[in-house]
Amino acid sequence: MNKFVGAHVSSSGGVFNAPINAMEIEAKAFALFVKNQRQWMAKPYDEKTIEKFKTNLKASKIEPKHILPHDSYLINLGHPDDEKREKSLNAFLDEIKRCELLGLVKLNFHPGSHLKQISEEECLDRIADSLNTALSKTKGVTLVIENTAGQGTNLGYKFEHIAYIIDKVKDKSRIGVCIDTCHLFTSGYDIRDKEAYDETWDEFDKIVGFDYLQGMHLNDSKPDLGSRVDRHESIGKGKIGIEAFRLIMNDKRMDDIPLILETPDNSIWKDEIKLLYGLIKKQ
Ligand SMILES: [Zn+2]
Ligand SMILES: [Zn+2]
Repeated sequence: MNKFVGAHVSSSGGVFNAPINAMEIEAKAFALFVKNQRQWMAKPYDEKTIEKFKTNLKASKIEPKHILPHDSYLINLGHPDDEKREKSLNAFLDEIKRCELLGLVKLNFHPGSHLKQISEEECLDRIADSLNTALSKTKGVTLVIENTAGQGTNLGYKFEHIAYIIDKVKDKSRIGVCIDTCHLFTSGYDIRDKEAYDETWDEFDKIVGFDYLQGMHLNDSKPDLGSRVDRHESIGKGKIGIEAFRLIMNDKRMDDIPLILETPDNSIWKDEIKLLYGLIKKQ
């Protein structure tokens, strides 16, 4: 097996700290925020920041394809209000350009929310439209759509939503998908045993396609199957349980992509990474 497991590490003090934080937990992959995720604007990177990031990344031996930057929580690419969608799109463009500067090749984002002001379809159209603009104004970074728990008015809780967006994106070579196991489970897709796991992934392959799978978030879940509530739990301690993660770690279809922990207790990330690698069956 060729698995690359890590966690969403802190960029506090500067993005260049993220690779160091990844090394400390013996990660082979990581996620990070490329700017403060709770603010709309941030000052541009200076040369030193970029240089330090590249030096630290080299030391970590982690390849760009195994790094999955996450966009700001403020961004809503499907916002019903034109002006607010524009603001989101500009912030999104800024983040893609930050990835380019750091030499990163993927940016993970949540699709968007209709806020009960427009239909799901209208919102999905707006998201696809935003992505087409973003793709036409940037290069080299693949935009990775994350499935959601479907909490509130967030779209992306069905494979059909993701397929709908991809279908409307013109440059399909730069679009990808990230499946979050907690969101998958709470949005109603079971993966707790082999039979359920196979059924869910067969459906994913039929509707979206494994070619688009560019990363995963490995989280257990506090809430139940289909609850549409987004609350992560440490691996093996939630409602999903350890078997699903054993199946993932032994599934070749998840080789060579970033597998990122977003579990609540960062003091045990190093142990969780070891635990996950320990699930791989010896040949
Ligand atoms: Zn996630
Ligand atoms: Zn979540």
